Amino acid sequence: MRLDRRTFLRAAAGTAAGVAVAAGSETLPEGLLSPSRGAPLARALGDDRPVPWHALAASLRGRLVRPTDTSYPVDAQVYNQRFDGLLPKAIAYCRTPDDVQRCVDFARRHRVRVAARSGGHSYGGYSLCRGLVVDVTELSAVHLDVRRRAATVGAGVRMIDLYTTLGGKGRLLPGASCPTVGIAGLALGGGVSVFARRFGLTCDQLEALRIVTADGRILTCDRERHDDLFWACRGGGGGNFGVVTSFTFRVHPIPPVALFTLEWPWAAAADVLGAWLHWTTGAPDEIWSNCQLLSSGSAGGKTVKVTGVLCGSARTLVTLLRPLRAAVATAPVVDFVGPESYLPAMLVEAGCEGMSVAACHLPSENRSGTLSRASFGAKSGYVTSIPPDRGIIAAVDAVSFLDHEVPEVGGGIVFDAYGGAVNRVASDATAFVHRDALACAQWSFFWGTGAPHSVTAAGSSWLASTGRSLAPYIHGAYQNYIDPTLTDWARAYYGANLPRLVKVKRRVDADDFFHFAQSIPTSLA
Ligand SMILES: Cc1cc2nc3c(=O)[nH]c(=O)nc-3n(C[C@H](O)[C@H](O)[C@H](O)COP(=O)(O)OP(=O)(O)OC[C@H]3O[C@@H](n4cnc5c(N)ncnc54)[C@H](O)[C@@H]3O)c2cc1C
Repeated sequence: MRLDRRTFLRAAAGTAAGVAVAAGSETLPEGLLSPSRGAPLARALGDDRPVPWHALAASLRGRLVRPTDTSYPVDAQVYNQRFDGLLPKAIAYCRTPDDVQRCVDFARRHRVRVAARSGGHSYGGYSLCRGLVVDVTELSAVHLDVRRRAATVGAGVRMIDLYTTLGGKGRLLPGASCPTVGIAGLALGGGVSVFARRFGLTCDQLEALRIVTADGRILTCDRERHDDLFWACRGGGGGNFGVVTSFTFRVHPIPPVALFTLEWPWAAAADVLGAWLHWTTGAPDEIWSNCQLLSSGSAGGKTVKVTGVLCGSARTLVTLLRPLRAAVATAPVVDFVGPESYLPAMLVEAGCEGMSVAACHLPSENRSGTLSRASFGAKSGYVTSIPPDRGIIAAVDAVSFLDHEVPEVGGGIVFDAYGGAVNRVASDATAFVHRDALACAQWSFFWGTGAPHSVTAAGSSWLASTGRSLAPYIHGAYQNYIDPTLTDWARAYYGANLPRLVKVKRRVDADDFFHFAQSIPTSLA
């Protein structure tokens, strides 16, 4: 059995649901919904002033959904159910870049808060706000230019639709595993995929983009035009500089693909993590993998596994895996290596093995969709050198602790391989600064509907204590795993690129119109 990020999400949520104590309400961690900084404009934005929404509705080609509309409860949802209480005044489904422009103009004129929304997967719920959500999911056309090896895609396209459309024409764009992640949030903050070591991050494939800025202009940005904004949009994070309406990416011919999963008994966890870190450091670019230390809570126990994808043949993969197998004294209990064609491989990576593409959606996106949303919290950090044994043990102990102390939830630590093409880009060539990492560690926990506050509080406290245990061995944090509980978040996400990002922000959005709790500030504190 494969257990990738998505299967893990579903398995963990299912486990937690199975053991959750009946009705209780989840309380959002403090500060999650309230902006930490008050920019002049943002401070002035009242929530209850009369706003002529009908005028906006009349000016748009797309729909404007208001709280009185029957579809509103679903339209107001994002992927993480913990934000279900955050209710916008209106949601605009923009059909054209002009619609986006009208929303921005309207919000400016009527001093309404805005948040751009693509796939709605922000870990901080930052694609929701109590004002106007500018939803780009209807901007989802994909145009492939085979001669230029480039694809222009609407800012609202989701991974599964991108893979299907481009894959049907023999091309791939390195995206994310999760089928329902949106291209805008993913690409603006980086974008790590099973093809990252071979081809680089999603943002590294970017050739141009169109963006509506705070003054209502539609700009085309590339290496020649508005090059500083183009630089900032490659890793500077979603929601900071404007609302992107489309991206043009370099795409690649689809290579042969082989998949693998090796799973060991939990007793081998420290051995496996240590062996994996050494092995992935020396692996060729063609192979991407992750090492997962997982607890399924009281229902399932703990497991350690390494899964991955090779751009190459299954025979080559068997050879490449030999040193990893040899470095772990225990034999794997699950041992799968096999060739796969591209689209089925992407379905497996999406946790949709054996499903139709239509089923591999949320029901809100596709009537045949069978996926569910989830409730989770997460933190991240980068491993830039192989930790000493005590660092490995700290990670293993953290997962054992979760399993023992908070058995009502599922969770664990996943180490995603970096290196290869990701690390060959200079750390200041794009806004994505994390170019020296061996791996990105993400620790997370998931709970089921109705889990009581005591359970989510225990999970949140595990996230924090795991962060403290791992602190000596990790640096920074991945901006796409945006973490509302981080204090020094701007430096953690952007490091040495922060001053330049602040400069770009000041130039394109001096009033801090595109503001949220962790948006890039207009000046450095
Ligand atoms: C289940 C799951 C799996 C994931 N898997 C991966 C993975 O494999 N690799 C990886 O790198 N990351 C992964 N992520 C993290 C993901 O990259 C981020 O959560 C990303 O921000 C999601 O983008 P979105 O468009 O879906 O989210 P949204 O919530 O819509 O947007 C995220 C941010 O971007 C802003 N934004 C949205 N649309 C626009 C726009 N058009 N213009 C400007 N700003 C915009 C939003 O305001 C928000 O601040 C995963 C997340 C989840 C929940």
